[in-house]
Amino acid sequence: MVTEECGKTMKIGILGFQGAVIEHQQHIQQLEQEAVIVRYREQLETIDGLILPGGESTTMGKLLNRTGLMDPLREKILQGLPVWGTCAGMILLAKELEQDPLVHLGVMDMTVKRNAYGTQIDSFDVRMVVPEISNREIPLVFIRAPYITRVGKAVRVLCRVDDHIVAVRERNMLATSFHPELTDDSAFHQYFIGMCRK
Ligand code: GLN
Repeated sequence: MVTEECGKTMKIGILGFQGAVIEHQQHIQQLEQEAVIVRYREQLETIDGLILPGGESTTMGKLLNRTGLMDPLREKILQGLPVWGTCAGMILLAKELEQDPLVHLGVMDMTVKRNAYGTQIDSFDVRMVVPEISNREIPLVFIRAPYITRVGKAVRVLCRVDDHIVAVRERNMLATSFHPELTDDSAFHQYFIGMCRK
């Protein structure tokens, strides 16, 4: 439902190289906001926020470099563009990866461990209340998921599963180990749209 106080329609970009792009798009549209697939640097000027989807972080990192998006996107995020990385997207945002010298955007003050739960067959889902997001239980789906092993002072932990940090916020940046776009619950998308509105 769109009410007066929701104000103008937000234009939410979804990095469109690879991964769970359409699923994010559907959630944004269901919440009656505009969703655009982002592949070119010019598009960065036209969006109110950007989602970095799950997929394969190494591939997405290569494509960000090859298309010339990496540096301007990093700059935009540092200037305050709201960004949300899910799974591989979270890996792209991290300043440091465990046992891996590679860093992609390197904007969030945290260390991330890739494939921390094991391989594809170790994928799982749980239901939890994440107070910052909603007072209802929401489904969290983990697929070859990373978790966070260190956070800097400015990073707020939003959710832990079995003592591992799996959702964080640092100023204009949100990162989740799991995939809200693969569930029918839009609470995280709603929260991110709120971040874009501010
Ligand atoms: N394991 C993947 C990576 O390291 C992330 C998996 C995902 O996004 N579902 O990039």
